[in-house]
Amino acid sequence: MTRLPRSTPALNHDERLGAYVIETSRNLSSPHPEKVWFNTITRQALPLDADRSELRAGFFLDGQQHEALLSRLFEARETLTLTAIVTWRCNLRCTHCTVIHRLEREDAASIDPERLADFVRRYHDARPNVKRLKLSLLGGEPLLNTDLCRRLVESTRSIFPDALYDITTNGAVRLEECHLELLRMMQDITVSLDGAEELNNTQRKAHRAKFNPYQRTMAFLEELNSHGLIDKVLVQGAIRDEYSTLENMADFYRALMAVGVRYDRIHFGSIHPTKSGMKAQESFRASLEHPTLRHQACCKFRGGHNLIIDADESVVSDYYDWETLGALDDPIQDLLERHHRMAVDTMPALSDPVCRTCPVIGYCWGGCTNARPLVGGAPSEYCNQDALIAKIREMAAEGSLPMDSSPSSCASDCGPASRNSAAAASKSRPLPGSQLP
Ligand code: SF4
Ligand code: SF4
Repeated sequence: MTRLPRSTPALNHDERLGAYVIETSRNLSSPHPEKVWFNTITRQALPLDADRSELRAGFFLDGQQHEALLSRLFEARETLTLTAIVTWRCNLRCTHCTVIHRLEREDAASIDPERLADFVRRYHDARPNVKRLKLSLLGGEPLLNTDLCRRLVESTRSIFPDALYDITTNGAVRLEECHLELLRMMQDITVSLDGAEELNNTQRKAHRAKFNPYQRTMAFLEELNSHGLIDKVLVQGAIRDEYSTLENMADFYRALMAVGVRYDRIHFGSIHPTKSGMKAQESFRASLEHPTLRHQACCKFRGGHNLIIDADESVVSDYYDWETLGALDDPIQDLLERHHRMAVDTMPALSDPVCRTCPVIGYCWGGCTNARPLVGGAPSEYCNQDALIAKIREMAAEGSLPMDSSPSSCASDCGPASRNSAAAASKSRPLPGSQLP
């Protein structure tokens, strides 16, 4: 890919201000919309007549971009998001699996529910601003260890009674009452299915058993429908470019909607490159050039509020790079300090000189670490900065720029929908064409 031409025009003409500050309007629905300076990194707004000390305190001034970035990355959050690897066993072996080298026949280790609860309790003590827990259950195939999943839910619910739980499964299991009991506890059930039968089974292969993965997963979805759980289901497919035709996708949608999956709960995307050799698909490369608004940094760098607990109880940064930060029973402050160092030292957008001064970094953050095999440490060589700048200017002019500093959901960035237990879809894409026939 050729490097795109670079220009780094400021989003404003005020010499006092950082390039990332833009004028926009808020409270558009009120009779008196207010013109404000908006800091696209910290998501703070100030009146146009704010004085220099107010601008400095909010990191609006020229020369404060790095401070603004660090302030946003490490701001206090209200939600602690944990992903627990409940098993490294899996009943499938998928061609695009990012963790295929980690899959095991037997569990060598597993998370102790009481130690996880103790970690959550100590985390809350260290960061009292945390008011919510979100726990994602992941594998391998987590439904192969239902008992541990249930005990992790029960132990953490004793600390955060309103905790949110979700699970990502291949659905290629025969549903039993123990599975249903667990799935009823989930807010979201993400099911990975990669298209209609032939396409799915080209990528998803049964392991050490003879069954048809597509038919097994569809039977699973039918069962969820008959037990009133289908509204919790979100289907995500990682679709190879050559299969991503209107006809194939229409078949896929039709089959899913026939078993009750909602249209707006079906997501699919391109396959991203994996360390085990999966090459980047053209659609993945193209997705890097789309001016997609990312509302926060990749989960790997999000201030230590988003962590993976591996089956051996190590605390790791994310599902792609697996950088170990410590152990579950380490002091929380030590883990957070290691996370802080890791983020500052390794986040590509903080070291790429074009990103560091990019006026729209607050709506990009250098993208997701799942692109690292392709972009390495230089995300700016693969992006379309000019298009993103144009989009942000347009949205600011019409007053539609998202201003929320901590979106309640990061699904548009990197929720369970894109962090497949497989080689995740990089982005949700709309159905080619517009309507299902
Ligand atoms: S990758 Fe993102 S942050 Fe970096 S230059 Fe491109 S648009 Fe800006
Ligand atoms: S992608 Fe998921 S279902 Fe497929 S082998 Fe990997 S862990 Fe198992």
